[in-house]
Amino acid sequence: MLKLATVAAGAGALGYLLAKQQHGSTGAKRCPFGGTVSNVADSPAAGSASGSEEVIASTYFELIGNTPLVDITAVAAAGTHPGVRLYAKAEFLNPGLSTKDRIMRNIFEKAEADGRLKPGMTIVAASSGNTGAATAMLAAMKGYQAVIITNAKCSAEKCASITAYGARLIITPTGVDYMEEEYKMARENPDWFSVDQYNNAANPEAHYQSTGPEIWAQTGGKVTHFVAAGSTGGTITGVGKYLKEQNPAVQIVMSDPNGSVFYNFWKTLKATGTGVLDKPGKFLVEGVGKNNIPGAMDFGVVDDMIQVSDKDSFTMCKRLAEAEGILAGGSSGLNVAASVQLAASLTGPAVVVTTMPDLGVKYLSKVYNSKWLADNNVAPSNL
Ligand code: PMP
Repeated sequence: MLKLATVAAGAGALGYLLAKQQHGSTGAKRCPFGGTVSNVADSPAAGSASGSEEVIASTYFELIGNTPLVDITAVAAAGTHPGVRLYAKAEFLNPGLSTKDRIMRNIFEKAEADGRLKPGMTIVAASSGNTGAATAMLAAMKGYQAVIITNAKCSAEKCASITAYGARLIITPTGVDYMEEEYKMARENPDWFSVDQYNNAANPEAHYQSTGPEIWAQTGGKVTHFVAAGSTGGTITGVGKYLKEQNPAVQIVMSDPNGSVFYNFWKTLKATGTGVLDKPGKFLVEGVGKNNIPGAMDFGVVDDMIQVSDKDSFTMCKRLAEAEGILAGGSSGLNVAASVQLAASLTGPAVVVTTMPDLGVKYLSKVYNSKWLADNNVAPSNL
């Protein structure tokens, strides 16, 4: 089993330790990659460092979660109320480089505990790429076989990382629903474990039990708004439920790519009690927005929605990379762009928290490739 010396038990705890070494144990701290880590010392999760400067993670598995919250107020639009703070949770610091490590940790643990997942079994997961990578990574850690199903939209980098962990990768043709393929393979192989991330209650539960409490602790309970795009809806449902339980006034805002069916479904659901499914449109941002409504998504927690174009999402990615040194994925650009829009509409002090779900390195051939951007007519605006 891999052992890491001089590394705290969690990616966020690592940031916390480095910040602590550089700036002492109290107050706001510089994050190792720019921005500020807020109140991380107050986080119960960060307490896993147990006061020691030298902490060894006994397994690589322990590095999941406890990600830092970075101050990105610098990207707010001119004219934004000076009392508005903008923070983003650096989920790309999870070991699999995305927020999906959290849900897969919970899904594996739940299934092992109740006997649905046993040694020697094969795990099958349909995914836009990050759940696939997290499944493949955890399967490698725990000694299972993994079969990952994705579609042609998945970046070459995400596909390559899945096979690098030793998993088998299946890419479905355009028009085929990859979830149906997962169900079909699970039916044909009754001893396989089907992850079913779009309907698995352990998905939103993971965010309810970890991401939500971390945000609450890291902001010292001062969070006023949480912004996140959805695919399974696990993040927004779990975090939204947790934050509203702590303070019902916290506003939960979903960011959504133009072309996703979520926006009109939520709007009609709110207005009439019945959600109407639009004909899905095309968009290029990976991992968020859908053409159907997943079982894990609870629109009851969503107070508002903001639509964002591919071009605005990728422009914000460029801005984060070139002006802040944060190399994040397309959905991070989308989330931050929506947060900036929300922040500009606020008339008083607020703490707006969003999430940066995965790392930009997963999209070097797309979001950070000027030819791909030009070919797809989504070249970012000048900064
Ligand atoms: N961003 C990216 C890049 C993702 O892969 C996903 C999940 N597919 C999300 C955001 C959305 O997360 P959730 O499934 O929790 O709604």
